[in-house]
Amino acid sequence: MREFGYERAHDVAGAVALLGSDPGARLLGGGTNLVDLMKAGVERPTLLIDVQELPLGDIGFTPDGGLRVGATVSNSDLAAHPDVRRHYPALAQALLAGASGQLRNMATVGGNLLQRTRCGYFADLSKPCNKRTPGSGCAAIAGEHRNHAILGASEHCVATHPSDMAVALAAFDAVISYETAEGPGDLPIHAFYLPVGDTPHIETALPAGAVVTGITLPPAPAAAHSHYRKVRERASYAFAIGSVAAALDVRDGVVRDVRLAFGAVASRPWRARTAERALTGGPADADAFAAAAGAELAAAKTLPANGYKVTLMRNLVVAVLTRLAEEAAR
Ligand SMILES: Cc1cc2nc3c(=O)[nH]c(=O)nc-3n(C[C@H](O)[C@H](O)[C@H](O)COP(=O)(O)OP(=O)(O)OC[C@H]3O[C@@H](n4cnc5c(N)ncnc54)[C@H](O)[C@@H]3O)c2cc1C
Ligand code: SF4
Repeated sequence: MREFGYERAHDVAGAVALLGSDPGARLLGGGTNLVDLMKAGVERPTLLIDVQELPLGDIGFTPDGGLRVGATVSNSDLAAHPDVRRHYPALAQALLAGASGQLRNMATVGGNLLQRTRCGYFADLSKPCNKRTPGSGCAAIAGEHRNHAILGASEHCVATHPSDMAVALAAFDAVISYETAEGPGDLPIHAFYLPVGDTPHIETALPAGAVVTGITLPPAPAAAHSHYRKVRERASYAFAIGSVAAALDVRDGVVRDVRLAFGAVASRPWRARTAERALTGGPADADAFAAAAGAELAAAKTLPANGYKVTLMRNLVVAVLTRLAEEAAR
């Protein structure tokens, strides 16, 4: 048992100050990921700063019709919110596809964004892992990698990002807001998560000492016609082996707007922009969906045991977009 301090922050400035006061400090949301990593010895904070009482628990419309969500909103409350269910249904579905009811009650938006990979070697101190111990090697490449990345990985790390919520946020161009001692800042989600490259231990562009304060979903009419589908090895209480968040605006059989993001295939939520470009202005049919998925997945680099994900993702894209096109035609 390692000793650590515990403080409860009551305002954002106080949380930022506490975080700056101790290089070993970590923010504690629901604790559903951080505490597990502490038990495994992967995280060894000297101070935990509980952010649950920060005044960041609101969900509401922005003046331009987008949605602003505070960082301490629980995953359950976000999934159940009527405006999320109505205007961004894929986000509610993604949240409900994750973890269990009890975990979603505890888990926060900020913590969900910043949860760490579920690569088994990351939490196993007896194995090399560049993400946990830079320069030590990657045990997964020659080891167990069935559920590892096929897009955007590197020879330094092939882990995937585990969040379902973040996949829907990537499809909807969410913007992440934070506060530091120097003041507030914003990062669009595509810039928030960094490419893995040769620094897999640096996962986000969040400045040191930053407290995430919330996310903003820009207004997007297509988002109301969206869907999230997750494939996993058990029907519930399991991380994705592949997932798709999609939104589709079809008029007269022609794709006007499409949003597509993949989960569990890369170190970050994977926005499928090649597929989006291939689809926009073209027909909304299964052949076009399959061709667009193929164009996106042409960049896939597989390992001996995870090649199945290419077929899985192609089929998922076709299934989700076909469902949305059928709904649009009704
Ligand atoms: C058994 C199990 C099954 C799960 N299944 C799924 C699943 O299927 N899909 C899925 O998406 N997730 C799943 N999860 C993961 C779960 O969603 C995350 O553990 C949860 O979202 C993390 O939120 P938290 O508030 O508890 O984070 P914490 O554990 O409190 O924190 C996680 C990280 O975020 C940082 N942090 C927290 N708040 C802030 C903030 N405001 N600003 C900056 N940094 C912050 C912490 O310092 C820490 O590094 C599962 C977890 C478990 C234990
Ligand atoms: S895939 Fe990444 S997280 Fe997993 S062992 Fe390799 S370096 Fe570590």
